[in-house]
Amino acid sequence: MSDLIVGIDLGTTNSEVAAYVDGRVRVLGPGETKMLPSCVGLSPDGKLLTGEPARNQQLLYPERTVRSVKRKMGSLENVTLGDKVFSPQEISALILRELAEWASHELDQRVGRAVITVPAYFSDAQRTATREAGMMAGLEVVRILNEPTAASLAYGFRDSARRTVMIYDLGGGTFDVSIVTIEGDITEVLASHGNNQLGGDDFDDLLVKRLEREFHQQHGFWLSNNHQAARARLWWAAEDAKKRLSSEPHVKVREEALVVQDGKPLHLEVEVSRLEYERLILPLVESTLDSVSKALEDAAKKPGDVDAILLVGGSTRTPLVSRLLQERTGLEPRQDVHPDLCVALGAGVLASRLAGHDVERVLVDVSPFSFGPSYLGERGGAQYPHCYRPIIRRNTPLPVTRTESYYTSYARQTEVRLEIFQGDDEDALRNILVGDFLVERLTPVDEPNEVMCRMNLDIDGILHVTAIEKRTGKSKQITITNALQAKSDAEIANARKRIEDLYASREPSFVDYEDEDDMESEPDEGPAAEMETEPASDFQEPAGSNGHVVSMESPEWAETRRSAVEAIQRSRRLLDSMHQEDKEEALELVQKIEAAVASHDSSSLRDAIKTLEELLFFVETV
Ligand code: AMP
Repeated sequence: MSDLIVGIDLGTTNSEVAAYVDGRVRVLGPGETKMLPSCVGLSPDGKLLTGEPARNQQLLYPERTVRSVKRKMGSLENVTLGDKVFSPQEISALILRELAEWASHELDQRVGRAVITVPAYFSDAQRTATREAGMMAGLEVVRILNEPTAASLAYGFRDSARRTVMIYDLGGGTFDVSIVTIEGDITEVLASHGNNQLGGDDFDDLLVKRLEREFHQQHGFWLSNNHQAARARLWWAAEDAKKRLSSEPHVKVREEALVVQDGKPLHLEVEVSRLEYERLILPLVESTLDSVSKALEDAAKKPGDVDAILLVGGSTRTPLVSRLLQERTGLEPRQDVHPDLCVALGAGVLASRLAGHDVERVLVDVSPFSFGPSYLGERGGAQYPHCYRPIIRRNTPLPVTRTESYYTSYARQTEVRLEIFQGDDEDALRNILVGDFLVERLTPVDEPNEVMCRMNLDIDGILHVTAIEKRTGKSKQITITNALQAKSDAEIANARKRIEDLYASREPSFVDYEDEDDMESEPDEGPAAEMETEPASDFQEPAGSNGHVVSMESPEWAETRRSAVEAIQRSRRLLDSMHQEDKEEALELVQKIEAAVASHDSSSLRDAIKTLEELLFFVETV
C-alpha cells in the first residue's frame, strides 16, 4: 500500500493532477501543458474519448461530446453521448480516471487517494457529487478543498502573519473572485463572487465573430451552420490567436481554403492587434471588476486591506486583466505560480502534507527582475528619452518570451539604439543598464517605422533581445548571458539609493548627467553581452502598423546627449577656476542643455553644447 496522495483540480475547462516527486510538488502528465481538457466523448464508432481527442471532435459531433460538465455537478440533469446516457458524476469520474492514470503512469505507482478541489461557492450537493465522482473513479477522496484555498497553499503564506488575499480566477468558462484570510494553516473564505457563464471561451467567441466579419468583407460570404468544419477551424484559430496576443503586440491569422465556392478556394488572412483585441474584450473584463468590488464589499474590506492578489486560471494570462486589476486596486497582481496549474499545485501541497511530507509551498522558477528597453516618451508633459516600461515583469515564470512594438521617432530614420535595462522604475536611468546595441539599416520611410523588441529569458538566466523591423523582418539580436545574476536585490537597492541621494542633493544640476554616466558604465561590471545578427529569413513578421505608439531614441540623439554629458563634466571640472562672469554663463548654458534634453530639442541642444565648448576652450587656454 503506497502513501501516495495526489491533488486534483477538476476544472470546468481543463483538469490537472499534481503530486510530491523528488522533493517538490509537480504537475504530472504527458505533453507540454500537462492539462487535460475536461471533455468526454463517444466517437462515431462508439469508442470513449477523454481530453484532447474529445475536444477535437466537439465541433464536428456536438451530440457525442460533453464539456463543462462541472456546471451540472449536483444536479439531476443527465448527459447524452450518442445513444448512451450518463450522470454528471460519471462523466467527471471518467476525467478523474484519466488523471489518475496519468499520475500512476508517470510515477509507476498505483494512485488510490486524492484531494479534489471545488469552487468556494459549491453547495453540499455539488461537493457530495464531486466526492461520488472520485469514488466512481476508484479513488478515496481524502479531502474536498476549496479552490481559492488551494491557490493560497500554492503560494505559501504559512507564516504567523494574518493576511487578506484576493484570488481572482478567470478560466475558460467561469469566473470567480474570493477574498480569504490566511493565518498559519487556516484559510477562511470571507466572500466569493463571480459569473459561472464568463471566461476565455467568450473571448474566443468575440474573436471568431471578428474573423467571420473579416471573411465576409474579403469574399462577401457569411459562414453558416452548414460550414461546421470551417467554423471549427476559425474557433481553433481564434483561440490560438488569443493566446499569442498575450505575449505579442499583433498576430496574423491565415486559414487557407476555409471555404471552397464554385470550385474556388477562399482564404482568410487578417492581422489582429492586441489593442483591437483588448477593445473587443474590455466590457467583459470590466464586468469582472464589478464582481471584485462586490466581493470586497461582502468581505467588509477595502482594496487597501488586501495584502496580495493571486491570479488563477488560464485567461488571467491576458495582459489586460492584470493591468485593469492593478489600476482598480493599486496592487500588482501575482502570477508567479503558473495561473492554470496553480489550483492543482495547491491541491498537491495539501495532498503531500497529508501524506507526511513537509511542503511549504510550490517552487517555480521565476525571473526575480523586470527587463525592458528605454524609449522616447513623455514625462511631466515634456518629451523624455529614457522612459521605461518592462517587457518581462518581475516574478514571471520562466522560460518566457514577450514582444512589444516601438516606432522610429522621425522621418527616414535608419538607426535606433536599443538600451536594455533591469529594474522597475519608469525612469530608465534609475534602473540598471544591462546591454545596448545599435540597429542599423532600417528602411528609410516617412511614416513611423515599427521596430519590435522581442525578449526571451530562459531558466538559466540567458536573455536574448531581438530587434525586428516589422516591414522587412530584418533583425538583430543581443545575448545577455547571466541576466539573473546581474545584480542582487541589495545591489539594486544600493544603486537606487545612490541615485536618489544624488538627485536629492543636486546642485546646480550637473548630477543628472553624472548619474547617467555611471549607469552607462554598468555593463562592464555587469552581465556579459554578445552581439549576433540573425539572418532575416529566420523571421517572417507581418507587414502593417499596429500596436501601441511609443518611439525609440535615435542614435544621433544618443550621440548628441553623450557630447552634452562630456561638456557638462568638463565645465564642472573647470568651474572653480572660472571668473564669476564665465561661471554664470557656464551655469546658464548647462541649464539650457538640460532644458533641451528634457524637451528633446536636438538643434537647441547642439547650439548650447557648441557655445559651452567654446567657452570652456577659452577658459582652458587663457
Ligand atoms: P483554465 O480553465 O484555467 O484551464 O483556463 C482555460 C482558458 O484559458 C481557456 O479559455 C484558454 O484559451 C485560456 N488561456 C490559456 N492560455 C492562455 C493565454 N496564454 N492567454 C490567454 N488565454 C489563455
